[in-house]
Amino acid sequence: MVRKEEREAKLPPKSNFSEWYHELLKSAEIVDVRYPVKGMSVWYPFGFALRSHVYQIIKELLDVDHYETQFPLLIPETEFMKEAEHIKGFEDEVYWVTHGGRDPLDIKLALRPTSETAIYPMLRLWIRSHADLPLRIYQIVNTFRYETKHTRPLIRLREITSFKEAHTAHATWEEAAMQVEIAVQRYIEFYRRLAIPCLVSKRPSWDKFPGADYSIALDVIMPDGRTLQVGTAHLLGTNFAKTYEITYEDEHGEQRYVNQTCYGISERCIAALIAVHGDDKGLVLPWRVAPVQVVIVPIIFGEREPIIEVCRSIASTLAGRNIRVRLDDGDERPGAKFYKWEMRGVPVRIEIGPRDIKNNAVTIVRRDGVRKTLPMDERLVDAILAEAEELQSVLYNRAKEFMDSKIKLVSSLDEARSQVQSGVARVPWCGSVECGHALEDQVGANLLGEPRGDEIPPMRCLICGKESTGSTYMARQY
Ligand code: ZN
Repeated sequence: MVRKEEREAKLPPKSNFSEWYHELLKSAEIVDVRYPVKGMSVWYPFGFALRSHVYQIIKELLDVDHYETQFPLLIPETEFMKEAEHIKGFEDEVYWVTHGGRDPLDIKLALRPTSETAIYPMLRLWIRSHADLPLRIYQIVNTFRYETKHTRPLIRLREITSFKEAHTAHATWEEAAMQVEIAVQRYIEFYRRLAIPCLVSKRPSWDKFPGADYSIALDVIMPDGRTLQVGTAHLLGTNFAKTYEITYEDEHGEQRYVNQTCYGISERCIAALIAVHGDDKGLVLPWRVAPVQVVIVPIIFGEREPIIEVCRSIASTLAGRNIRVRLDDGDERPGAKFYKWEMRGVPVRIEIGPRDIKNNAVTIVRRDGVRKTLPMDERLVDAILAEAEELQSVLYNRAKEFMDSKIKLVSSLDEARSQVQSGVARVPWCGSVECGHALEDQVGANLLGEPRGDEIPPMRCLICGKESTGSTYMARQY
C-alpha cells in the first residue's frame, strides 16, 4: 500500500495534467507503476474495485445478447500468421514464447496482442449452419503488446490487463454492419453511465483495424486537449472468414462465409474516467462505480460514544439498502479524513456532530462541493440516492460543456494548427486519401475521421480546394 506520507504528497493542480494524472494514480491508490517490467503495472485493491464496478456495466450491456467466454493466452504462430494484413498490423508488437523449459518449441507461441487468431479457428468448428448465427461472444482478458513508444499507466501499456473484446458472426454483411452500429450504441451508453461524452468517428482507411473493412472509434478529449481512443468497433466482413474458413450452410444447403465484427474496450476507460471528472482535490467518481459511495465522518465534540452510535446506525441503514458505505471512525482529524476520501472520489460525505444529532439532521457534502442538510430519518436514504442522481447529471453536463468548448470548426491550415495545440479541430476535407495524408503532415496532428451525424455547410477542402460537406476531426492523440 501507499505509505501515508507518500499519499499526502501534494497533488499538482489538474491544469498540470500529466503530473496530476501520475500523482493521482498513486495518491488515490489506482495502480502502482513500480512493478519492475516497463509498461506493466499493478492494480491496487481500491483501483481494482473501481475497475470491477466499471466493467460490471459493460457486462450488463453485453449480457443482453452476448455470451461471455474465455480463450487461451497463447496463439500458435501457424494460426497467427494466416491473415496477412492482420500480421502486418501487429508483427512488431508481438511477444513470442519460444521455449518450454530448456527445449525450443516446434511452433512458437504468441502472447495474444488481440484474440482474432485465437478465436476464429474455433469459430470454424463451432459454426455449422445458419441456425448457429448470429453468434456473439466476448471475453475480458489481458493482452500483450511490445510497445516501443513511451508507455503510460492505463493508457499505453505492454500488458493491457482488462481488454474486453467482443466477436460476432453473421449471415450477411448488412447484419454485421448493423452489429457494428449496435456495438457503437452500447459503447456510447456505457460511457454515458460513466458521465463521459465521446466523439464518434469513422477512422480513415489508413488507420482502420488491420484486416477490417472499416472501423468506428470513440474518443474522449482529455484535459490537455489531446484525444484518447477509448473504444473501437470493426466490420471485418468475410476477410477473416476466408482465411480461417469459417462457413455456414444457408437455407438452401449452400456453404457461405460468415460476416464478422469485433469491438473492444480496455482500461483506457478508467483513464478517461479519472481524467475527465477528477479535480484539484483528486478523483471524482460517479455513484455507480465508486468503490465507496458514502463515507460517514463523525465530528466529535464532547462525548464520543453517542455520536459514533448514531453514525453506526446510519451506516447500517445505508448498507441495508446496498449502498457501499464506510464509517471513518479513526483517530485522524476530520480535515485529514475529508482530504483522504475526496482524493478517492467518494460521491457523498456525511458529517455527523452533536448539533446534527440535536437537530435530527445530517450534513452531507457532495464531491462536486454542494453542501446540504438532510433529515436524519427514514427519508435519508432516498434523499442520498437523489443526490447521487443529481451528481451524475452535474458531471455529465460539465464534461459535455468541456468537450464542446474544445472542438472548433476551422477554415484554414493555420487555424487548424493552432486549434490542435489545445483541442480538436474540425477540418473541411474532401475525403481523399492524398488530402488526408497532406492534412496530417501539414497540421501536425492525426486525422480521427469523419464525425457521424451532423454535416457542415459546404466548405472548401483545406488541401485541394474542392467544395465538400465532408469534414474530419483532427487532434493530437494519446
Ligand atoms: Zn481534398
